[in-house]
Amino acid sequence: MKTQLIVEKSTRGHIATSLPNLDVPQVPLSDLVPEKYLRSDDPNLPEVSEPELVRHYVGLSSKNHHVDKDFYPLGSCTMKYNPKINDWTASALAEVHPYQPQELSQGRLGLYYELEQQLCAITGMKAFTLQPAAGSQGELVGVLLMRKYHEMRGNDKDVILIPDAAHGTNPASVAMAGYKVIEVKSNDQGLVDLDDFESKINDRVAGFMLTNPNTLGLFEENISKISELIHGVDGLMYMDGANMNALMGIVRPADAGFDITHLNLHKTFSTPHGGGGPGAGPIGVVEKLADFLPTPKVEIENDKYVLNYDLEHSIGRVHGFYGNFGILIRAWTYIRMLGPDGLKSISRVAVTNANYMMHKLKDVFELAYDKTCMHEFVLSAQAQKEKGTNALYIAKRLLDFGFHSPTMYFPLIVKEALMIEPTESENKETMDRFIEVMRQIADEIETNPDLVHAAPHSTPVGRVDETYANRNLNVHW
Ligand SMILES: *Cc1c(COP(=O)(O)O)cnc(C)c1O
Repeated sequence: MKTQLIVEKSTRGHIATSLPNLDVPQVPLSDLVPEKYLRSDDPNLPEVSEPELVRHYVGLSSKNHHVDKDFYPLGSCTMKYNPKINDWTASALAEVHPYQPQELSQGRLGLYYELEQQLCAITGMKAFTLQPAAGSQGELVGVLLMRKYHEMRGNDKDVILIPDAAHGTNPASVAMAGYKVIEVKSNDQGLVDLDDFESKINDRVAGFMLTNPNTLGLFEENISKISELIHGVDGLMYMDGANMNALMGIVRPADAGFDITHLNLHKTFSTPHGGGGPGAGPIGVVEKLADFLPTPKVEIENDKYVLNYDLEHSIGRVHGFYGNFGILIRAWTYIRMLGPDGLKSISRVAVTNANYMMHKLKDVFELAYDKTCMHEFVLSAQAQKEKGTNALYIAKRLLDFGFHSPTMYFPLIVKEALMIEPTESENKETMDRFIEVMRQIADEIETNPDLVHAAPHSTPVGRVDETYANRNLNVHW
């Protein structure tokens, strides 16, 4: 029997809070708010007791999938296990008030400063800002920094090049910052097609935005050549560093010729994410761009940490206060806990795990690019599609086994793409369980396709009408 999904829990008069009696004179609302803005009826809010409230959320959390429940191989999203000590440190500092005077916030400012130094060490960049609240906002800030650089140098440029394998946020950020996007093709190896790239280089090019390892999980081998060509026209190299989980302690973006990079702290540096945030997408830059970073900037002055609001060439403020503090604390804790050797071993294990899974699956699902992968790999279910079952069916069937599905239909250049990223936190037993299930599904496609087509069979919500859900999205009831 299926669990009934929606049970009305609200009962008039039930409440989950108990407040002390009012001991100050009560001011009529109409003295505070003009009459015309006052509502005439009570809002229709659920009324529940505290235990019912707790049960509601615990119930929802167990219907949903999360990384604390089982494997979550969502490629490009780095759904690694998030150590609970991060939450402990974040909650210990949660009461720090952002308006507390700087003399009394030395611990908080020191944490920002140290985290920026740690990120500089990891990426080889000269300076960081922790303000951007997501990878995508980091990209926008990065492109605004490019803009500032060209303005200061009197360069007249209006184009940013982006490979066709890029994450959708890249062209969106470029367009928001007022530049034109020109797409560069990938070659049959899944890397930037150098001939196509060279044909698009000219004086109009403000920069190149590249994800490395790219969204196919492949390391861009021609990176030195690419950065030489871009710098040759006084362009800037931007690295989308959302995939830093493959590189820590092994490759520093600045050494590879990049001038700007963002990091997704909520991915590589372990904050629970998904469902829209909060996140943190700090931006790091080389020396020639450091003066343009947003204000305020954390600095040391007379042995004290201070926020400097007075930076002549800054692009200005991009976030309230100094970014999403809770996420920054988690990243700081994670980095301090692991140290340089720990971070390096994370990247090594993440890459080893992805290669292990790729080799165990490539005989049943076509491998989009048969090369050593980095932290993730992309399978294609094109052969299965020709038999009447596509990537979407496979993703749905996986839910019956308690797994989240991989990223699907991305990158766009692979047909029927299934992008799998195990991360370092999965052990061999979990990976083997997933491999076995994927092989079983491949077998079911041959022997019992109807079973796969009707999946999922065991989730609280069965097959939904995808088209209707897309057109008429309603996330509450
Ligand atoms: C996740 C991701 C982004 C966007 O980051 P958000 O924090 O979700 O805005 C950009 N590029 C790549 C390659 C990503 O994986």
